[in-house]
Amino acid sequence: MTARILVVDDVLPNIKLLEARLTAEYFDVMTATNGPEALSICAEGLADIVLLDVMMPGMDGFEVCRRLKSDPKTAHLPVIMVTALDQPSDRVKGLDAGADDFLTKPVDEIALIARVRSLARLKVMLDELRTRADTSASLGILSTAGPAAMDKGVGGRIMVVDDRASSAERLMSSLSAEHTMELQTDCQEALFRGAEGGIDLFVISLGLKEYDGLRLCSQLRSLERTRNLPLLMIADLEDRARVLRGLDLGVNDYLMRPIDRNELLARVRTQLRRKRYADALRDNVQASIEMAVVDTLTGLNNRRYLETHLPAMVAKSTSRGRALSLMVLDIDHFKKVNDTYGHDAGDDVLRGFSQRVKRVIRQADLMCRLGGEEFIVAMPDTPIDIAEKVAERVRAAVQGDKFPIDGGERAIPVTVSIGLAVTQGEGAIDTLFKRADKALYRSKNEGRNRVTAEAA
Ligand code: GH3
Ligand code: MG
Ligand code: MG
Repeated sequence: MTARILVVDDVLPNIKLLEARLTAEYFDVMTATNGPEALSICAEGLADIVLLDVMMPGMDGFEVCRRLKSDPKTAHLPVIMVTALDQPSDRVKGLDAGADDFLTKPVDEIALIARVRSLARLKVMLDELRTRADTSASLGILSTAGPAAMDKGVGGRIMVVDDRASSAERLMSSLSAEHTMELQTDCQEALFRGAEGGIDLFVISLGLKEYDGLRLCSQLRSLERTRNLPLLMIADLEDRARVLRGLDLGVNDYLMRPIDRNELLARVRTQLRRKRYADALRDNVQASIEMAVVDTLTGLNNRRYLETHLPAMVAKSTSRGRALSLMVLDIDHFKKVNDTYGHDAGDDVLRGFSQRVKRVIRQADLMCRLGGEEFIVAMPDTPIDIAEKVAERVRAAVQGDKFPIDGGERAIPVTVSIGLAVTQGEGAIDTLFKRADKALYRSKNEGRNRVTAEAA
């Protein structure tokens, strides 16, 4: 994975050092020696990740980070603060400014590479989701999720996995200030609980007496239902190698003991904000997938959905030795409704028509809008003589009451012509539509407002 890393530092030797290490890992490196220069490179969208020095003359790193995170164009750019300051309070200040991570000088080479890699992975994932969500936003209706910075990252449900009583208690009491807490001492139970749903984040000790915490991390990463849950490892200094292993497995973050309470809270907030943002994007993408198979005017499934699902419906009926009947409906003289009362009135009729037909068919029947004023009802397990009765019921229901238009000010009469065809065992699906269409054509020809079943 080649990401473009922007290294920002006012001291040239520092830049050279980081540049050499990152280039050796095949990252593309750009450099800036002050805050404003860094901001303009980011504004142009040239960087994927920012490595940001804190102490710089003029605009310091905290301020650069705050500005990046408050501009919607750059808010999603991962920022790693790099500083000589080793005070937990500065780490917290950086994370509160919206930084995604923190490294202290002299920079630990392996930790640097692991962090950059994991943020590069995160960015690729979020960029992809954002692109898809933006596409659906540009199609109308759906709006893109707001910037992650707007969420405070509190009020999560957090699972601590630790079987050492005193350590577990400290973690629980620190985090309970901002979150709802659960404790598990058993890794297997923790995994089940995670898969059950409702947990927003895992805090996992690598120093468990009975289990291997890394194994739990790896299992959580491989299960479909827990794959996207943020994981945070708690490690001892001598666990360094395992921490790196964890980051390679896709664990999101870690803290070394002794644990600073405020840093723990800040890192958990960061992970929760990211999760909620990614979840919102995912929901958005899901909704746009649904949109692709749903007709927005009537809320019915569209032709694309019908074409994907009809073969399975037919196969199911056929395997049970039953027939599937297909009803094709076309509103009569619909053009005249538009011409006489306007396009909006036409839309009212299409909506009212859909609702009325849905009311008189079964739950198992699939009604779709093919386009314009043409509809389909696929009726599984339904022989043609039953289908004729249903179709007659539909026809009568449409003719029965006038359709309200102009917000209920007026109502107009509408009728529908219907054609019916039925499956004839295997392979009949290709011609099913054509045969039903032919029957519909006869209904139209013979005076409309009637039902015709294909000739047996
Ligand atoms: P027939 O009885 O032979 O079916 O006549 P018809 O007027 O219903 O059929 P035709 O296919 O000539 O006209 C269909 C009309 O439906 C033309 C088109 O403008 C209108 N139409 C298609 N989609 C929509 C829509 O989404 N909203 C509205 N209001 N009208 C639509
Ligand atoms: Mg028509
Ligand atoms: Mg038509």
